[in-house]
Amino acid sequence: MTKDEIRAQLQFYQDLGVKTLYRREPAAGAPEPATSNQPPASASPASSAQPRSAGEPELIVLPLAPAHDNLSKISEDIGDCKRCRLHEGRNRIVFGSGNEQARLVFVGEGPGADEDEQGLPFVGRAGQLLTQMIEGTARKEGIPLKREDVYICNVVKCRPPENRTPQPDEMEICGQFLFRQLEVIRPKAICALGSTAAKAILGTKEGVMRLRGRWLQWREIPVIVTFHPSYLLRPYNQDAKKEAWDDLKKVLHYVYD
Ligand code: URA
Repeated sequence: MTKDEIRAQLQFYQDLGVKTLYRREPAAGAPEPATSNQPPASASPASSAQPRSAGEPELIVLPLAPAHDNLSKISEDIGDCKRCRLHEGRNRIVFGSGNEQARLVFVGEGPGADEDEQGLPFVGRAGQLLTQMIEGTARKEGIPLKREDVYICNVVKCRPPENRTPQPDEMEICGQFLFRQLEVIRPKAICALGSTAAKAILGTKEGVMRLRGRWLQWREIPVIVTFHPSYLLRPYNQDAKKEAWDDLKKVLHYVYD
């Protein structure tokens, strides 16, 4: 690794909020280091584990999902969910839609009124803008891509009252299903729309302004954070559109080139 590459790698961890790094022997089959124009590769979870000192209890990491998990199983497990208060006001659970083998997954915050009525994510005004953003950017960049080629879902699957931001416990309860969806699809990249999605996926408190436009990671899958389409619909946020388009270009080229 050159000094510049090491500096970039350290900057990446600093951006993620990692303050301490430990030296270890490279594990057999460890991923290749990142190159400057590609998302950074991370160490595999197993190879980054630190040795236990004597007397320290063994950390048992429970499997994230049942063996042979799939989207139907996840939907079945959600069932007629009453795990949190959001079920009280919902009409329909909005699980997700699109290509189940998608190479790109978009994650929003939670269903709005139209989504709650139809049981589908991003079908209201924000959804129309998201479709335009995906298909319009792809077309301009010469990438043949339709909305149905990607997968779209939300952090919470039930509409929060008055479209309020989901609360931490609601995000945590529903987040387990989002993570299972992401694990099953294992896309080449994830695009987090807005700070609720970024918070749920990256576990960070940082807002979109600081996170957008650079490569982050969720369990070794590259993540791009960008503005939520609802934010872009507000007349005073029109300047952010250009940045959102730049973010989309970046992720589309990485996934489909
Ligand atoms: N906003 C979201 O975050 N998700 C939807 O599905 C619709 C609007």
